[in-house]
Amino acid sequence: MRSSVDRLRAAGWEQVDETTPWRAVDNGFVVRGAALVAWRRPVGSSTASPFRIVGAHTDSPGLRIKPRPDMGQFGWRQLGVEVYGGALLNSWLDRDLGIAGRVVLDDGSVHDVAVHEPIARVPQLAIHLDREVNDKGLVLDKQLHLTPVWGTGVGAPGDFAAWLADRANLDLATIAWWELCLFDITPAIVLGADRSLIASARLDNQLSCWAATTALIDARAPTSHTPVIALFDHEEVGSESSTGASGPLLATILERLTNGWGGEREAFLEALAGSSCVSADNAHAVHPNYPERQEPGHRPIVNHGPAIKVNSNQRYATSAETAALFRRACERAEVPWQVFVSRNNMPCGSTIGPLTATALGIPTVDVGVPQLSMHSARELCGASDPQYLAKALSAYFTL
Ligand code: ZN
Repeated sequence: MRSSVDRLRAAGWEQVDETTPWRAVDNGFVVRGAALVAWRRPVGSSTASPFRIVGAHTDSPGLRIKPRPDMGQFGWRQLGVEVYGGALLNSWLDRDLGIAGRVVLDDGSVHDVAVHEPIARVPQLAIHLDREVNDKGLVLDKQLHLTPVWGTGVGAPGDFAAWLADRANLDLATIAWWELCLFDITPAIVLGADRSLIASARLDNQLSCWAATTALIDARAPTSHTPVIALFDHEEVGSESSTGASGPLLATILERLTNGWGGEREAFLEALAGSSCVSADNAHAVHPNYPERQEPGHRPIVNHGPAIKVNSNQRYATSAETAALFRRACERAEVPWQVFVSRNNMPCGSTIGPLTATALGIPTVDVGVPQLSMHSARELCGASDPQYLAKALSAYFTL
């Protein structure tokens, strides 16, 4: 989210404060918590210009530091953590972890913190003490087995807060609360003998956030629509929050945009009726070691472009009209596209697509870049696909 803000600012976008009377700017954005909504006003647009929206989510599953994290025994200092979302727990073992997030001071000010150093680690039990692990599988109890070590000796309550104050250059006495997560400090890399893959943390769904931001900045062609990106928080835990896709964040800002540009409620409803949305969230690429897990006729392949996700039971919001619209955008951008349908005997994941479609009544298409290892601490995707998605979204904005 922060990098999207930095990129928008560098491209001339202005931040608008939603807690004050609306300031109508042509290229602007609103930040609420870890969510962001940004827009570009097309040249010569009317107050009832329909919106072309790209939705994505900023959050990823992982381990979050508890409010009272100091613990430890037997010569180890440990940090209490809470599991956020549907993380592949095994992927967090034996990684060197940094700490990042936000600290709120008692005056209400918010400070971003990112310590890109190996601070903590969740050590796996040695095979000698878990002889059946390779045959029977690894079973991790979230409460007992995921507590990272972050040093040795005798810890005491307050140790973590004191460390945080020191590393974030804040006065310990002023720290009121924090929202901090652990992250693998290994940087993203281009991988493969042919360098055709990207390995990184949080590809789901920061890849789509990156593509949406790129598309908004690049969408310069004349259009009668207003391009908007909505990067929500809390998708991995159900989207029901003030910054999630089930909340009123996007609807509120769209209405204020119309009002700010001189339209009344009627103009807003007219704009909504002509709008559409692309919900961008990564898809499951076919895994070469588990091809049977995918529907044989609809297996997304890496580096073959974004997949249009279809589910008749509306776990994805795609309709014939919206699929055709996205297909047209891909063709305009000269980007390949493919289709994902899950097996009838395998439950399908969901996305923010059906939520925004339900909340706003806007026709929506679910799409996503195919990847492997979804919800692992380290995920894998094709190196060409992020660009394909960005180009397709850019074309969608200006169709
Ligand atoms: Zn996702």
